Amino acid sequence: LGPTVTVGEILVEIVAKQTGTGFLEPIDLIGPFPSGAPAIFIDQCARVGGAAAIVGTVGDDDFGVVNTERLKRDGVDTSAIAVSPEYPTGSAFVRYREDGSRDFVYNIAKSAAARLEWTHEVEALITRCGHIHVMGTVFASPAAWEITEHAIALIKARGGTMSLDPNLRKELLTHGQTEEKFAALVDKADLLLPSGEELFLAAGVETENRAIEMLFNRGVKEIAIKRGKDGSSAYHRGGTHTNCPGFLVDEMDPTGAGDCFGGAYVACRRLGMPLEKALEFGNAAGARNVTRLGPMEGAGTRAELEEFITRTARRS
Ligand code: ATP
Repeated sequence: LGPTVTVGEILVEIVAKQTGTGFLEPIDLIGPFPSGAPAIFIDQCARVGGAAAIVGTVGDDDFGVVNTERLKRDGVDTSAIAVSPEYPTGSAFVRYREDGSRDFVYNIAKSAAARLEWTHEVEALITRCGHIHVMGTVFASPAAWEITEHAIALIKARGGTMSLDPNLRKELLTHGQTEEKFAALVDKADLLLPSGEELFLAAGVETENRAIEMLFNRGVKEIAIKRGKDGSSAYHRGGTHTNCPGFLVDEMDPTGAGDCFGGAYVACRRLGMPLEKALEFGNAAGARNVTRLGPMEGAGTRAELEEFITRTARRS
Protein backbone atom coordinates (compact mmCIF):
# COMPACT_ATOMS: atom_id res chain seq x y z
CA LEU A 1 0.00 0.00 0.00
CA GLY A 2 3.02 2.33 0.01
CA PRO A 3 5.91 3.35 2.26
CA THR A 4 6.06 3.87 6.01
CA VAL A 5 6.28 7.57 6.81
CA THR A 6 7.18 9.51 9.93
CA VAL A 7 6.98 13.22 10.73
CA GLY A 8 9.22 15.37 12.91
CA GLU A 9 12.63 16.54 13.99
CA ILE A 10 15.65 16.02 11.80
CA LEU A 11 18.67 17.00 13.90
CA VAL A 12 22.38 16.53 14.32
CA GLU A 13 24.01 15.48 17.55
CA ILE A 14 27.47 16.51 18.71
CA VAL A 15 28.85 14.38 21.52
CA ALA A 16 31.56 15.02 24.13
CA LYS A 17 34.32 12.42 23.80
CA GLN A 18 34.86 12.19 27.56
CA THR A 19 32.28 11.74 30.28
CA GLY A 20 31.85 14.63 32.69
CA THR A 21 29.48 17.41 33.64
CA GLY A 22 28.22 20.09 31.26
CA PHE A 23 29.96 22.31 28.73
CA LEU A 24 31.51 25.06 30.84
CA GLU A 25 35.10 24.28 29.81
CA PRO A 26 36.54 23.59 26.36
CA ILE A 27 36.24 19.84 25.69
CA ASP A 28 36.78 17.48 22.76
CA LEU A 29 33.60 16.90 20.79
CA ILE A 30 32.75 14.47 18.03
CA GLY A 31 30.07 14.84 15.39
CA PRO A 32 27.91 15.97 13.70
CA PHE A 33 25.96 12.69 13.77
CA PRO A 34 22.53 12.48 12.10
CA SER A 35 19.84 12.42 14.80
CA GLY A 36 16.22 13.16 15.74
CA ALA A 37 13.91 10.33 16.82
CA PRO A 38 11.89 10.22 13.55
CA ALA A 39 15.10 10.23 11.48
CA ILE A 40 16.63 7.38 13.51
CA PHE A 41 13.42 5.34 13.25
CA ILE A 42 13.01 5.78 9.50
CA ASP A 43 16.69 5.22 8.71
CA GLN A 44 16.58 1.85 10.50
CA CYS A 45 13.32 1.00 8.76
CA ALA A 46 14.92 1.61 5.35
CA ARG A 47 18.14 -0.21 6.28
CA VAL A 48 16.28 -3.49 6.87
CA GLY A 49 14.54 -3.12 3.52
CA GLY A 50 11.25 -1.38 4.35
CA ALA A 51 9.95 1.29 1.97
CA ALA A 52 10.42 4.47 4.02
CA ALA A 53 9.86 8.23 3.87
CA ILE A 54 10.09 11.24 6.18
CA VAL A 55 8.49 14.66 6.52
CA GLY A 56 10.75 17.24 8.18
CA THR A 57 12.63 20.52 7.79
CA VAL A 58 16.36 21.21 7.85
CA GLY A 59 18.31 24.45 7.51
CA ASP A 60 20.21 25.54 4.42
CA ASP A 61 23.49 24.38 5.98
CA ASP A 62 25.94 21.48 6.27
CA PHE A 63 24.10 19.92 9.23
CA GLY A 64 21.00 19.58 7.05
CA VAL A 65 23.07 17.96 4.30
CA VAL A 66 24.66 15.50 6.77
CA ASN A 67 21.28 14.15 7.81
CA THR A 68 19.48 14.28 4.46
CA GLU A 69 22.35 12.57 2.63
CA ARG A 70 22.53 9.77 5.23
CA LEU A 71 18.80 9.13 4.95
CA LYS A 72 18.96 9.19 1.14
CA ARG A 73 21.98 6.85 1.08
CA ASP A 74 20.13 4.38 3.30
CA GLY A 75 17.09 4.38 1.03
CA VAL A 76 14.69 6.84 2.69
CA ASP A 77 12.48 8.95 0.40
CA THR A 78 13.59 12.50 1.31
CA SER A 79 11.35 14.32 -1.21
CA ALA A 80 9.30 15.89 1.63
CA ILE A 81 12.27 17.26 3.58
CA ALA A 82 11.97 21.04 3.24
CA VAL A 83 14.95 23.39 3.46
CA SER A 84 14.34 26.51 5.53
CA PRO A 85 16.10 29.60 4.15
CA GLU A 86 15.87 31.29 7.56
CA TYR A 87 16.49 28.79 10.35
CA PRO A 88 19.45 26.50 10.99
CA THR A 89 19.19 22.71 11.25
CA GLY A 90 18.26 21.63 14.77
CA SER A 91 21.11 20.39 16.95
CA ALA A 92 21.82 18.80 20.30
CA PHE A 93 25.15 18.84 22.16
CA VAL A 94 25.34 15.88 24.50
CA ARG A 95 27.71 14.97 27.32
CA TYR A 96 27.41 11.75 29.29
CA ARG A 97 28.07 11.83 33.03
CA GLU A 98 29.79 8.94 34.82
CA ASP A 99 26.42 7.64 36.08
CA GLY A 100 24.99 7.39 32.53
CA SER A 101 22.78 10.50 32.80
CA ARG A 102 23.23 13.19 30.17
CA ASP A 103 23.66 16.97 29.94
CA PHE A 104 22.25 18.62 26.81
CA VAL A 105 22.44 21.95 25.01
CA TYR A 106 19.63 21.99 22.46
CA ASN A 107 18.78 24.19 19.53
CA ILE A 108 15.45 22.74 18.44
CA ALA A 109 12.60 25.14 19.26
CA LYS A 110 14.30 27.98 17.33
CA SER A 111 15.57 25.78 14.53
CA ALA A 112 14.24 24.53 11.19
CA ALA A 113 13.10 21.36 13.00
CA ALA A 114 10.23 23.27 14.61
CA ARG A 115 9.08 24.77 11.30
CA LEU A 116 7.14 22.04 9.58
CA GLU A 117 4.66 22.97 6.88
CA TRP A 118 2.12 21.08 4.81
CA THR A 119 3.69 21.65 1.37
CA HIS A 120 2.83 20.19 -2.07
CA GLU A 121 5.68 17.72 -1.56
CA VAL A 122 4.20 16.60 1.76
CA GLU A 123 0.76 16.18 0.21
CA ALA A 124 2.21 14.22 -2.73
CA LEU A 125 4.13 11.93 -0.37
CA ILE A 126 1.37 11.31 2.17
CA THR A 127 -1.15 10.38 -0.51
CA ARG A 128 1.03 7.41 -1.48
CA CYS A 129 2.03 6.18 2.01
CA GLY A 130 0.56 3.03 3.53
CA HIS A 131 1.66 3.37 7.15
CA ILE A 132 2.47 6.23 9.52
CA HIS A 133 4.65 5.90 12.61
CA VAL A 134 3.86 8.49 15.29
CA MET A 135 6.01 9.37 18.31
CA GLY A 136 5.21 11.11 21.58
CA THR A 137 7.67 13.85 20.58
CA VAL A 138 4.87 15.14 18.34
CA PHE A 139 3.27 16.76 21.42
CA ALA A 140 6.25 19.11 21.77
CA SER A 141 5.57 20.82 18.43
CA PRO A 142 2.19 22.28 17.39
CA ALA A 143 3.25 22.21 13.72
CA ALA A 144 4.23 18.52 13.87
CA TRP A 145 0.96 17.71 15.64
CA GLU A 146 -1.15 19.41 12.96
CA ILE A 147 0.67 17.67 10.09
CA THR A 148 0.60 14.31 11.85
CA GLU A 149 -3.16 14.48 12.51
CA HIS A 150 -3.84 15.34 8.88
CA ALA A 151 -1.48 12.62 7.63
CA ILE A 152 -3.06 9.96 9.88
CA ALA A 153 -6.52 10.84 8.53
CA LEU A 154 -5.39 10.60 4.88
CA ILE A 155 -3.43 7.38 5.32
CA LYS A 156 -6.18 5.68 7.33
CA ALA A 157 -8.83 6.81 4.80
CA ARG A 158 -6.99 4.87 2.09
CA GLY A 159 -6.80 1.72 4.21
CA GLY A 160 -3.34 2.36 5.70
CA THR A 161 -2.21 1.64 9.24
CA MET A 162 -0.57 3.48 12.12
CA SER A 163 1.98 2.66 14.82
CA LEU A 164 2.61 4.68 17.97
CA ASP A 165 5.72 4.89 20.16
CA PRO A 166 4.39 6.80 23.18
CA ASN A 167 7.84 8.14 24.09
CA LEU A 168 6.11 9.96 26.90
CA ARG A 169 6.67 10.55 30.60
CA LYS A 170 3.86 10.86 33.10
CA GLU A 171 4.68 14.55 33.84
CA LEU A 172 4.24 15.45 30.16
CA LEU A 173 0.72 14.03 30.04
CA THR A 174 -0.63 16.74 32.31
CA HIS A 175 0.51 19.57 29.99
CA GLY A 176 -2.38 21.29 28.14
CA GLN A 177 -4.51 18.82 26.21
CA THR A 178 -1.79 16.21 25.91
CA GLU A 179 -3.71 13.55 27.83
CA GLU A 180 -6.75 13.86 25.54
CA LYS A 181 -4.61 13.92 22.41
CA PHE A 182 -2.61 10.92 23.59
CA ALA A 183 -5.78 8.90 24.30
CA ALA A 184 -7.10 9.75 20.82
CA LEU A 185 -3.83 8.58 19.24
CA VAL A 186 -3.92 5.29 21.17
CA ASP A 187 -7.45 4.70 19.87
CA LYS A 188 -6.24 5.13 16.29
CA ALA A 189 -3.12 2.98 16.63
CA ASP A 190 -2.94 -0.47 15.03
CA LEU A 191 0.45 -1.18 16.63
CA LEU A 192 1.80 0.17 19.95
CA LEU A 193 5.50 0.18 20.85
CA PRO A 194 5.64 1.19 24.52
CA SER A 195 8.48 0.85 27.01
CA GLY A 196 8.39 0.87 30.82
CA GLU A 197 5.44 2.75 32.26
CA GLU A 198 4.22 3.85 28.81
CA LEU A 199 2.13 0.68 28.48
CA PHE A 200 0.32 1.58 31.70
CA LEU A 201 -0.05 5.26 30.69
CA ALA A 202 -1.62 4.17 27.41
CA ALA A 203 -4.04 1.74 29.06
CA GLY A 204 -4.73 3.59 32.31
CA VAL A 205 -4.14 0.42 34.40
CA GLU A 206 -1.04 -0.96 36.06
CA THR A 207 -0.70 -4.65 35.27
CA GLU A 208 0.64 -5.89 31.96
CA ASN A 209 -2.04 -8.48 31.18
CA ARG A 210 -4.88 -6.13 32.05
CA ALA A 211 -3.30 -3.28 30.06
CA ILE A 212 -2.97 -5.48 26.98
CA GLU A 213 -6.55 -6.69 27.26
CA MET A 214 -7.85 -3.11 27.60
CA LEU A 215 -5.80 -1.86 24.66
CA PHE A 216 -6.98 -4.71 22.42
CA ASN A 217 -10.56 -3.83 23.39
CA ARG A 218 -9.89 -0.26 22.29
CA GLY A 219 -8.88 -1.40 18.79
CA VAL A 220 -5.10 -1.85 19.05
CA LYS A 221 -4.14 -5.01 17.14
CA GLU A 222 -0.55 -5.55 18.19
CA ILE A 223 1.74 -4.45 21.04
CA ALA A 224 5.54 -4.73 21.13
CA ILE A 225 6.95 -3.91 24.57
CA LYS A 226 10.57 -2.71 24.87
CA ARG A 227 12.43 -3.81 27.99
CA GLY A 228 15.90 -2.27 27.55
CA LYS A 229 18.75 -4.76 28.06
CA ASP A 230 16.19 -7.45 28.95
CA GLY A 231 14.82 -7.51 25.40
CA SER A 232 11.17 -7.30 24.41
CA SER A 233 7.79 -9.02 24.11
CA ALA A 234 5.08 -8.90 21.47
CA TYR A 235 1.36 -9.61 21.70
CA HIS A 236 -1.06 -9.98 18.79
CA ARG A 237 -4.82 -9.63 19.25
CA GLY A 238 -5.24 -12.95 17.47
CA GLY A 239 -3.72 -14.64 20.54
CA THR A 240 -0.02 -14.93 19.61
CA HIS A 241 2.48 -13.89 22.28
CA THR A 242 6.26 -14.09 22.09
CA ASN A 243 9.27 -12.95 24.16
CA CYS A 244 12.78 -12.23 22.96
CA PRO A 245 15.60 -12.03 25.54
CA GLY A 246 18.07 -9.15 25.16
CA PHE A 247 21.39 -9.56 23.39
CA LEU A 248 24.52 -9.31 25.54
CA VAL A 249 26.39 -6.20 24.37
CA ASP A 250 28.64 -3.49 25.78
CA GLU A 251 26.56 -0.33 25.84
CA MET A 252 28.49 2.67 24.46
CA ASP A 253 25.60 5.07 23.82
CA PRO A 254 21.94 4.24 24.65
CA THR A 255 20.48 6.99 22.43
CA GLY A 256 18.30 5.69 19.62
CA ALA A 257 17.78 2.11 20.86
CA GLY A 258 14.01 2.45 21.05
CA ASP A 259 13.79 4.11 17.63
CA CYS A 260 16.00 1.47 15.98
CA PHE A 261 13.93 -1.27 17.63
CA GLY A 262 10.76 0.36 16.27
CA GLY A 263 12.14 0.99 12.77
CA ALA A 264 13.24 -2.63 12.37
CA TYR A 265 10.09 -4.09 13.96
CA VAL A 266 7.65 -2.03 11.85
CA ALA A 267 9.59 -2.69 8.63
CA CYS A 268 9.82 -6.44 9.29
CA ARG A 269 6.10 -6.74 10.12
CA ARG A 270 5.19 -4.77 7.00
CA LEU A 271 7.46 -7.05 4.97
CA GLY A 272 5.30 -9.94 6.21
CA MET A 273 7.59 -11.50 8.83
CA PRO A 274 5.96 -13.34 11.75
CA LEU A 275 5.87 -11.70 15.21
CA GLU A 276 8.81 -13.74 16.50
CA LYS A 277 11.16 -12.90 13.65
CA ALA A 278 10.27 -9.18 13.67
CA LEU A 279 10.87 -9.08 17.42
CA GLU A 280 14.28 -10.67 17.02
CA PHE A 281 15.21 -8.09 14.37
CA GLY A 282 13.88 -5.28 16.60
CA ASN A 283 15.96 -6.52 19.53
CA ALA A 284 19.04 -6.86 17.37
CA ALA A 285 18.60 -3.37 15.90
CA GLY A 286 18.26 -1.78 19.38
CA ALA A 287 21.16 -3.75 20.84
CA ARG A 288 23.50 -3.18 17.89
CA ASN A 289 22.80 0.53 17.94
CA VAL A 290 23.87 0.97 21.58
CA THR A 291 27.32 -0.45 20.78
CA ARG A 292 28.29 2.64 18.71
CA LEU A 293 28.72 6.27 19.65
CA GLY A 294 26.15 8.46 17.86
CA PRO A 295 22.35 8.14 17.81
CA MET A 296 22.09 6.01 14.66
CA GLU A 297 25.64 4.96 13.87
CA GLY A 298 24.84 1.37 14.88
CA ALA A 299 21.66 1.00 12.79
CA GLY A 300 22.12 -2.18 10.76
CA THR A 301 21.14 -3.47 7.35
CA ARG A 302 19.20 -6.72 7.18
CA ALA A 303 22.43 -8.64 6.48
CA GLU A 304 24.27 -6.90 9.34
CA LEU A 305 21.44 -7.67 11.76
CA GLU A 306 21.29 -11.30 10.61
CA GLU A 307 25.01 -11.59 11.29
CA PHE A 308 24.59 -9.86 14.68
CA ILE A 309 21.81 -12.31 15.60
CA THR A 310 23.96 -15.32 14.72
CA ARG A 311 27.07 -14.25 16.57
CA THR A 312 25.70 -12.47 19.69
CA ALA A 313 24.86 -14.25 22.95
CA ARG A 314 21.57 -13.51 24.71
CA ARG A 315 20.63 -13.02 28.33
CA SER A 316 18.99 -16.14 29.73
P1 ATP B 1 15.03 5.18 24.13
O1 ATP B 1 13.78 5.99 24.30
O2 ATP B 1 16.11 5.46 25.15
O3 ATP B 1 15.59 5.13 22.74
P2 ATP B 1 13.28 2.95 24.74
O4 ATP B 1 13.00 3.01 26.21
O5 ATP B 1 12.21 3.33 23.80
O6 ATP B 1 14.66 3.66 24.41
P3 ATP B 1 14.71 0.47 25.11
O7 ATP B 1 13.88 -0.56 25.78
O8 ATP B 1 15.75 1.17 25.91
O9 ATP B 1 13.73 1.48 24.36
O10 ATP B 1 15.47 -0.19 23.87
C1 ATP B 1 14.78 -0.79 22.80
C2 ATP B 1 15.29 -2.18 22.54
O11 ATP B 1 16.69 -2.14 22.23
C3 ATP B 1 15.16 -3.11 23.75
O12 ATP B 1 13.87 -3.72 23.77
C4 ATP B 1 16.29 -4.09 23.49
O13 ATP B 1 15.88 -5.10 22.61
C5 ATP B 1 17.36 -3.22 22.84
N1 ATP B 1 18.31 -2.68 23.83
C6 ATP B 1 18.34 -1.45 24.38
N2 ATP B 1 19.36 -1.31 25.25
C7 ATP B 1 20.01 -2.49 25.27
C8 ATP B 1 21.17 -3.01 25.97
N3 ATP B 1 21.87 -2.26 26.83
N4 ATP B 1 21.53 -4.29 25.73
C9 ATP B 1 20.85 -5.07 24.86
N5 ATP B 1 19.77 -4.64 24.17
C10 ATP B 1 19.34 -3.38 24.36
